[in-house]
Amino acid sequence: MSHPTTSITVLNLQIPTPSGNSPIFPVMLSDVDGVTLVDTGMIGQFAELQSALEQEGVQLSDVKRVIITHQDIDHIGNVGALLDAIPDLEIWAHADEIPYLTGEKPLIKFTPERRALLPAPVLALADQLLLQLPEVNISRTLADGDILPLQGGTQVIHTPGHTPGHICLYFGEQQFLLAADELRVVDDELVGPAPQATPDMPEALRSLKKLTDLKLNKVLCYHGGEYMNDPAQRIATLAESAE
Ligand SMILES: [Zn+2]
Repeated sequence: MSHPTTSITVLNLQIPTPSGNSPIFPVMLSDVDGVTLVDTGMIGQFAELQSALEQEGVQLSDVKRVIITHQDIDHIGNVGALLDAIPDLEIWAHADEIPYLTGEKPLIKFTPERRALLPAPVLALADQLLLQLPEVNISRTLADGDILPLQGGTQVIHTPGHTPGHICLYFGEQQFLLAADELRVVDDELVGPAPQATPDMPEALRSLKKLTDLKLNKVLCYHGGEYMNDPAQRIATLAESAE
């Protein structure tokens, strides 16, 4: 089945770090009712996000909703700026992540130690974002197994561990897994989540088992990009290390 009006576009934004730029990969889903962004980039990257969309021929006014895979600041960084620009923007997220996205609970990993690593201008934007979080209205609460009306049917897979409400998305027609931070590509190899950024690593590894029955051509990791070297087999191997 083909849908000429639907497409999945991987965006590429660069986060400056002391050791050089580090790419991250938000995703743009085009469907008949508009554009869905999956994650929004790092705090302070709104201009980059906007120009990445424009390069794909998309204006902010075309963006109908954002799916947040999880609460980390490099994923939610531009939610506030998007809400300012798009008043009726929908935000979809897993139930277990919502209290963090609405400011009811503090972001798990945005600790004083992490804050200290950010340059002052980014920190100022971070504080602005935290103040905006109580304005965030979640339009749709996602649950494991939901089939979203996007790309001919997009499956929500709840993969806790990296954060409580972390999700992956599976596009069945394309056999494409959007892994967010549940998997990474490091030195051309698919690996599990980053231990230093994953508070419950045993749970994150157990979550990998939920990915082992998927038919896969391609996995996209927010950190590391695309992986196409028999990803299903590699995920099965990684899942064996789960308790
Ligand atoms: Zn993360």
